[in-house]
Amino acid sequence: MISILKVDNLNIAYGNLQVVWDVSLNIPDGKIVALLGSNGAGKTTILKTIGGILKPKSGKVFFCDKDLSKYQSHELINLGLCFVPEERNLFISMTVEDNLVLGAYTIRNSAKIKSNLEYVYSLFPRLFERKKQLAGTMSGGERQMLAIARGLMANPKMIMLDEPSMGLSPQNVVLVFETLMKLKKDNVTTLIVEQNVNTTLEISDSAYVLEHGRIVMHGDSGTIKNDDSIRKMYLGIA
Ligand code: ATP
Repeated sequence: MISILKVDNLNIAYGNLQVVWDVSLNIPDGKIVALLGSNGAGKTTILKTIGGILKPKSGKVFFCDKDLSKYQSHELINLGLCFVPEERNLFISMTVEDNLVLGAYTIRNSAKIKSNLEYVYSLFPRLFERKKQLAGTMSGGERQMLAIARGLMANPKMIMLDEPSMGLSPQNVVLVFETLMKLKKDNVTTLIVEQNVNTTLEISDSAYVLEHGRIVMHGDSGTIKNDDSIRKMYLGIA
């Protein structure tokens, strides 16, 4: 299977405090891969490092065979890698639609921007209804949808999502997870960090489990979901 993203032996520290040890990941093209683990395990730290926001002590990240240490974080979107951080980073005093159009800043063709807008509005009809509303006045769930939709405006090959279901109503959680399945049909690869373990294992193809900064388990999501001992031991759920 061809890997779109390859992470080799990442070691990551905040100052002298090392929080990630020898983490390697292989993300196959077109699949949904989950990164699971308890609070403080290092999930966000790994995503931020892949996204170029943090520099590792050692280790390499390759996206489409390109060594990402040679790129700045803002250049990754040009390569087709989109990171939607937990903070969402929206422009709160701009409208929903202006936020979306800004997400397509790497695209010069206005017809393409228009068709991308239609695409994200079809995924998230709520954003279409609220397109003239200021992003800062949207609900938490709507803002999360907007952050994902804005990332999709640049036609990424791969999207990395940090806790996309955080703060969402159960109905909107379903909408976000359904969206990931639709993206998979459109051949967009996803790396997802989630607390919502059960649903994430249902929609993902494979999962890595992180404990205290180390990968302790990697396997097919269906197998992990159905293995009570793994769930109990590593994911704290019976
Ligand atoms: P959660 O599920 O709670 O978001 P996580 O698995 O994403 O957790 P990280 O946020 O990556 O975990 O944090 C991993 C470790 O690094 C934690 O012990 C955290 O306290 C520490 N850490 C995170 N950010 C910083 C920082 N800026 N400075 C120092 N330590 C940090």
